[in-house]
Amino acid sequence: MKASELFFPTLREVPAEAEVVSHQLLLRAGFIRKASGGVYSYLPLAQRVLKKIMQIVREEMDRAGGQELMLPIIQPRELWEKTGRWDVYGDEMFRLQDRHKRYFALGPTHEEIITTLVNADVHSYRGLPLMLYQIQNKYRDEIRPRFGLMRGREFIMKDAYSFDVDYQGLDMSYQKMFEAYHQIFQRMELKYRVVEADSGAIGGSSSHEYMVLADSGEAEVVYCEQCSYAANVEKAECSCQEAVPGQTDALPLEKKHTPGQKTVEDVAAFFQRPTSQVIKTLLCLADGQPVVALLRGDRELNVVKFQNLLGCLDLVMADEKAAYELFGAGFGSLGPIGLDIPIYGDLEIQAMSAANCGANQDDYHYINVCPGRDFQVRQWNDLRNAVAGDPCPHCQNPLQLVRGIEVGHIFKLGDKYSRDLDASFLDQNGQSQIMVMGCYGIGISRTMAAAVEQNRDEQGIIWPLPLAPYQVIVIPVNSKKEDQMDLARSIYEQLLAKGIEVILDDRDERAGVKFKDADLIGIPLRITVGPKALQENKVEVKKRWEKDINMMGMEEVLNLIGELWG
Ligand SMILES: [Zn+2]
Repeated sequence: MKASELFFPTLREVPAEAEVVSHQLLLRAGFIRKASGGVYSYLPLAQRVLKKIMQIVREEMDRAGGQELMLPIIQPRELWEKTGRWDVYGDEMFRLQDRHKRYFALGPTHEEIITTLVNADVHSYRGLPLMLYQIQNKYRDEIRPRFGLMRGREFIMKDAYSFDVDYQGLDMSYQKMFEAYHQIFQRMELKYRVVEADSGAIGGSSSHEYMVLADSGEAEVVYCEQCSYAANVEKAECSCQEAVPGQTDALPLEKKHTPGQKTVEDVAAFFQRPTSQVIKTLLCLADGQPVVALLRGDRELNVVKFQNLLGCLDLVMADEKAAYELFGAGFGSLGPIGLDIPIYGDLEIQAMSAANCGANQDDYHYINVCPGRDFQVRQWNDLRNAVAGDPCPHCQNPLQLVRGIEVGHIFKLGDKYSRDLDASFLDQNGQSQIMVMGCYGIGISRTMAAAVEQNRDEQGIIWPLPLAPYQVIVIPVNSKKEDQMDLARSIYEQLLAKGIEVILDDRDERAGVKFKDADLIGIPLRITVGPKALQENKVEVKKRWEKDINMMGMEEVLNLIGELWG
């Protein structure tokens, strides 16, 4: 492809609308353009990257026994009513009406459609197992579409669905997908981790998320270097650490005047103790009813864990007015002692001795607080977010923390959808049974953005080799010089003849502009053809991810390409 003909409108300025790096770079490098909030056009360079991602996904899905099909985007309301999701999806679902006033959804996902499809045509165990997948646009009417391709309203997904005769079959299908996903992200040369997405709820259900590691990722992941444990911070189980030594529980409880000391940090500094010795008292409303969570001063409440424990639909932090009504004190001076509402304590609190907490009187705090002696709780539980250094729940090794972007998610659905949609079959004994399902997603457009978040520098994108839109860019330093152009053209044609994806930057631009664009769009190999090339029969070769420039003859260049993409 000649750069003079390639449609890649690069921008010098960082677009104001773009909050995250991948969004900025994909706009600047001429890969995407916004059509409306959360809806993007993919320009030719992006389309090439997306096709490479899809190709890898297709090959691995097929290898794992998947069959590709294509389901409709427009889905009738009746199907969604059968699973109750027409209502549950709420405002996130794009809905439309046809001329007969019938309602449809723009598919946010495809469980209803595919389960109905399979149910209509598979009646016997002989038709199972089945693994079906598609690559298609999905729609979600996000309240605030953000972060470019990370959270769009229209996005490209690969979604696969497995149908099995029983849970043992599901386990096998799931395992195949689990391995196929590893193959996929390894082949894309992305640094990633697979994390446990739930802690094994009833019925042996399980799910895993595949996270591309990037400092800018919105999810925090803890992982163990000793064993394979990794989990989302919100979901990671925290085992109780040992009691903090150095204090005995013999000291009597004492109330101290602490004028103006409101935050955990204030109180810790006032008593010259670490924040880990302060009990943080959080007032929440669970379905409108007040409850208290106790955490160490240096910990964060994990709302999901607390909500699961309480089994409530709605959990919010109460405001300070409620604190005055219930405790007779403001946020800075709350504590569990003498309190008449349900108290739930994090496991770490149980192990504390001689702690500090609020005295439910403004400007007063207790010292020498001993949980169990000075106050009781309804239940001790794991209520906090995991942090780096926590012991691994499997092997006790200290956990590490990284940030990541979720690009894949695999689920054991069980019979959730097959029951609602009555997807049954006759088993070997002629008995009617419900199919057991799994579903397996990969965000295709999101993977492109995540690849950029992970692989970039100040100059632009550094595409992983398997995803780069082109492998090589040939840049004549001065396009006006016939001899340079001739040599560049001949190199370009040699590469084309070898089936290498190559751009010839034949534009009438200064060399500096061409180098900048090549770096911005992230082409892995840059071949520069200058006066030296003509004299020595060697060209300058630069790898996008390295600073050095090497002089090479054409044979060497071809060998290098062979090594990199071999
Ligand atoms: Zn471990």
